[in-house]
Amino acid sequence: MRKLSISPQSSPEEVLRHFWGYDSFRPLQRDIIGAILDGRDTIGLLPTGGGKSITFQVPAMLLPGLTVVVTPLISLMKDQVDNLYAIGIRAAYLHSGLSLRETNLALDRCRLGKARMLYISPEKLQSPSFADTLRLFNISLIVVDEAHCISQWGYDFRPSYLRIASLRTMFPDVPVLALTASATPEVIDDIADRLLMKSPAIFRRSFSRDNISYIVRNVDFKEGKIVDILSKVPGTAIVYVRSRRRTREIADMLRANGISAAAYHAGLQPEEKQERQNDWKSGSIRVIVATNAFGMGIDKPDVRIVIHYDLPPSLEEYYQEAGRAGRDGLPAFAVLLVCKSDKAILSRRLSEAFPDKDTIRRIYELACNFLDIAVGEGYNNVYEFNMPLFCERFHFHPRVVDPALRILSQAGYIDYADEVTTRSRVMMLMQRHELYDLDLPTTADAVLQALLRTSTGIFADYEIISEPLIARRLAVTEQSVYENLLLLSRMHVIHYVPRQTAPYIFFPTSRELAQHLLFPRAVYEDRKQRMARRIDAVRRFAFSNDECRVATMLRYFGETAAKPCGKCDVCRADIAASRQHNTADSVDSDANIALRIVHLASHPGGITIDDLARALTINPDRAISLCRALIDNGDIAINGNIISATPRPISR
Ligand code: ADP
Ligand code: MG
Repeated sequence: MRKLSISPQSSPEEVLRHFWGYDSFRPLQRDIIGAILDGRDTIGLLPTGGGKSITFQVPAMLLPGLTVVVTPLISLMKDQVDNLYAIGIRAAYLHSGLSLRETNLALDRCRLGKARMLYISPEKLQSPSFADTLRLFNISLIVVDEAHCISQWGYDFRPSYLRIASLRTMFPDVPVLALTASATPEVIDDIADRLLMKSPAIFRRSFSRDNISYIVRNVDFKEGKIVDILSKVPGTAIVYVRSRRRTREIADMLRANGISAAAYHAGLQPEEKQERQNDWKSGSIRVIVATNAFGMGIDKPDVRIVIHYDLPPSLEEYYQEAGRAGRDGLPAFAVLLVCKSDKAILSRRLSEAFPDKDTIRRIYELACNFLDIAVGEGYNNVYEFNMPLFCERFHFHPRVVDPALRILSQAGYIDYADEVTTRSRVMMLMQRHELYDLDLPTTADAVLQALLRTSTGIFADYEIISEPLIARRLAVTEQSVYENLLLLSRMHVIHYVPRQTAPYIFFPTSRELAQHLLFPRAVYEDRKQRMARRIDAVRRFAFSNDECRVATMLRYFGETAAKPCGKCDVCRADIAASRQHNTADSVDSDANIALRIVHLASHPGGITIDDLARALTINPDRAISLCRALIDNGDIAINGNIISATPRPISR
């Protein structure tokens, strides 16, 4: 029976069933929740898609006060809060892209106890007035999502995350829960230190993913290999590349080869992103070719292949991206393509990420001039930063400017945020009946009507709107929609917050003289050294062939592999080599080989006919004819090009 109401005495299981309708917790969820309800500081390491959100959302419903969730994923906040509303949980969110009115609305909700959870972005903690407001709240739990961002040793350090410690000092007795999908042992220690945790309970799920075959392929012509792989292995796929231009090129190339594909990167309009993401999710597009902007918050269980065209910057990122394959537990492939020149590219990445200090000083100086900030000014101001214009004017490459701005951020001189995309939002300022008396120009009226038709909650709250969509519906230009929204805004009919996709620079201190800028070891040399180590680990993974890929990866995350995985390219080559050795002195009978085929096919993930033939050192034709007999006999099954064992006893 479904319980009708949830009280503080309810069990976590009841809360889970009541709101989410799930029957049971996933591994470690219950342990994490238990530790929090016992008031302990807790660190939870679960893979992406492992269900980290539930571990704080369930306690949030049982604890008396507010749960504050710090997350860097501004673009997902609204969706998360909407999803919670949809199952009857009230929550609010705050980030710097919101208007004052939106901010006050959210804070009022928390004050009045109308929200159980408050999502905030870390840079909010910078503002003293916000801290004062928080102090008045009764806070029961502090959650730090994507907690690896707090560690300088991690691959995605964000200086604004360091401010989270101030929450801790403000509420010393409130338990803190830190969540992440990937962290090396030293990053876990660092998380505990930075968050001033008192002997935290640490729960981690093994990083091993038994259904994924990790394959590294050394090829000269990567494009051809991608087509080759995608024609052999059926199912949904992601191809990761590192430049926006290449997402388009490869998507075009795939389409030209008859494979349905779309490009995806951070520079697309939100509507385009949404559309391509949906098409891919629903299966009407098979392959998404993306930069690392794709994946956060995407939860598609049946991805069969993740191909990396370029080397990833770290094994943490590789693990996360490759791990989007096979969430359903069925066999899947993670393929890393490497070529000879990649080694040099890896080394170049290190020097590019750390321009010399004088170049950084110069870029600081020019950026301040560019933004029209005099020495001694700029304190506490935010500026939009037009990167292309800056680079053009001063003859810099973004590949130099970007890391320089990052290092300046680490050193505390600026706070640089790239690619902050907020979506356009509208809230109605008039009551419905007041609208009848308005005298509006025709197009403005049409736009207003379109808003009223599509956004039902618009009288109560800000709703996300899409100007291109409205333009298409009304058969007018986007510009005209935009202008009419501004007009309605000026007439106080609506409040309109246009979308923005601009990098910005915030000045936490006023402009300094460039020659006075200091870059301490911790900001420059130490970080450079860590990056060198991360790159080394990638180099090892990509260019050595002497250890099982899974074992290499697990060791990096501080685990020991129980045995070689048997499915990666290294393990398969070993199997093939030992076969070759055995067959040197005895010619195998068909019956013997048939038994070995069944054995090889029983590896999770199965095996392709080509690999099978290679492993058995027989020619593919013979492999096919032997397989055919086994298929007829029901011993193995074939799906596309993959042979897998059928789960019934092997007949002899
Ligand atoms: P993460 O943050 O770890 O990447 P999420 O919290 O976004 O993962 O959860 C991923 C998906 O798993 C969500 O769709 C969520 O509803 C689902 N999920 C989480 N816990 C359970 C559970 N106990 N039973 C069934 N589904 C769950
Ligand atoms: Mg999450």
